[in-house]
Amino acid sequence: MIFKEKVLVTGGCGYIGSHTCLYLIENGYEPIIVDNLCNSNTEVLNRIKSIVGYKPIFYELDVRDENALDEVFCTHDIKSVIHFAGLKAVGESVEKPDLYYNNNIGSTNTLLKVMKKHNVKNIIFSSSATVYGNPKRVPIYENDPIGEVTNPYAETKVKIEFLLQDLANHDKTMNIGILRYFNPIGAHKSGLMGENPKGIPNNLMPYVTQVAIGLRDHLNVFGNDYDTRDGTCIRDYIHVCDLARGHVLTLNKLHQNSGLVIYNLGTSIGTTVLELVNAFEKANNIIIKKEFAPRRAGDIAECYANCDKAYKEIGFKTEFNIVDCCRDSWNWQKKNPNGFN
Ligand code: NAD
Ligand code: UDP
Repeated sequence: MIFKEKVLVTGGCGYIGSHTCLYLIENGYEPIIVDNLCNSNTEVLNRIKSIVGYKPIFYELDVRDENALDEVFCTHDIKSVIHFAGLKAVGESVEKPDLYYNNNIGSTNTLLKVMKKHNVKNIIFSSSATVYGNPKRVPIYENDPIGEVTNPYAETKVKIEFLLQDLANHDKTMNIGILRYFNPIGAHKSGLMGENPKGIPNNLMPYVTQVAIGLRDHLNVFGNDYDTRDGTCIRDYIHVCDLARGHVLTLNKLHQNSGLVIYNLGTSIGTTVLELVNAFEKANNIIIKKEFAPRRAGDIAECYANCDKAYKEIGFKTEFNIVDCCRDSWNWQKKNPNGFN
């Protein structure tokens, strides 16, 4: 295949990174993946090949390993970086804050150092709606306050955002895209790629699909006494393929010497836990056994995005709705009862 540019994709074997690699390839960008496989599997590379006919170049390394990373930049003429690599389990981050600071912030520091050495100016960073903490209003806009967060995972995202903002202020030749993802769900329509959680899923959709396949007995709905239309929490669920496309649009924007850009990537639609479960049941004709359980510590009642800025500046608009998400998540789970294992 002939590509116009090499893009380093850290964490490219993971859920969002692997789907983004598909869109990069389809849009003429060559992903060079680095991943330490702490939460992923190289089988995903074969799946990418089955879908787009090209198996990305892959290096098994930890982004904190400066020499190994430097070697990749010496071998390839990297022009841009998409930085997905990181740990993401909120509960685990409370238990092991040192691990989260070390992995998430440490890998970003090393990456930025090696980028500087090789004069690479474009980077997209995976941030999260979690940086808004408990939002003062919904929908949430990009210039709403960030930083009042309650767990180490969110703290690492905030600190990296501030670092990148300072860097952009200091070096006007840098082009930096900070993407604040809302709740990614869904899977590629082929059913060949999807989310592959290790152990008991923390997130709602993988838990629902594991109940559907019989791996879990029932869904615990955490809290039905919130001040929302049905008492359960509201989130903004975005199809992972829409999210992936958002990265390519942002990369195109960085190539216009954008400087620093920050976008919410969501659907602008809030969905309750019960609405999501209902949508899943209808889309797939499956009943999900559920029980109401106490609120989960640290949960906020409502979180959904205003995405006008991403629409105006990069033309980002979602193509998939919640029913598509539910169908594709189930298609992936059904075809891969044990994920990539
Ligand atoms: P994921 O765990 O599937 O992917 C992350 C990848 O990074 C994994 O393949 C893992 O092996 C790799 N990795 C972790 N630390 C590494 C290191 N030090 N060196 C090399 N590789 C390393 O997670 P995901 O859902 O694809 O998330 C990607 C990014 O998006 C993460 O930064 C995450 O915090 C962020 N994010 C995710 C969500 C979500 O709900 N999935 C929401 C908001 C933000
Ligand atoms: N949730 C739930 N049962 C589960 C997992 C999640 O009721 O087994 C709820 C959770 O309390 C929240 C919503 O589903 O209200 C989305 O949770 P998730 O962890 O997927 O996303 P986050 O809360 O991090 O935005």
